[in-house]
Amino acid sequence: MVEDIQRVFVPSVTEEDGGTIGLGCFSTEKVAWEVLRTFLKRSEEMLLTSSSVVVWDIDRVGEEAMNVLATMECKDCPVCSRRTFWIDLENFSALCHGSACSAWIEENTVDPEIIDCGWPTIRFLKQNKSIEEAVRELYKLGDRLRAAGVSEQNSVSAEKLMQEHLEQSKD
Ligand SMILES: [Zn+2]
Repeated sequence: MVEDIQRVFVPSVTEEDGGTIGLGCFSTEKVAWEVLRTFLKRSEEMLLTSSSVVVWDIDRVGEEAMNVLATMECKDCPVCSRRTFWIDLENFSALCHGSACSAWIEENTVDPEIIDCGWPTIRFLKQNKSIEEAVRELYKLGDRLRAAGVSEQNSVSAEKLMQEHLEQSKD
């Protein structure tokens, strides 16, 4: 017997020209997120400004049938410069979905006063006092990589560069 579906989860993305692309309609939140995340991996191929996951109650009239579960905004990535840096506005966290980048910012799990940021390619990890500072740190890293002509695939020289970067920022 098939269970009656009471609500559906709808992920969607919005393009720069204002058009919205619906990514489907799912019976679980988990699958809706999986579909959205998979789609966001391709976001460097298009100009997107935001994305969201919305839950709709079935057979209910009016706007109360709809609840926004999460909204994310797309920005240029501080490290790789591609338009693939997705920022979750509610529970502040950010992740670059660009291939071979994955720069990220997140609240520290132990101390919410601390904002962590990182770049897995060279295991870069830094604790910051604010979101702004975390973004600045990632930009600094990106600037140095660009100045040295290092691509994210070239992680050996990136690692060397990072050591210099860390030594410099000690003072
Ligand atoms: Zn990136």
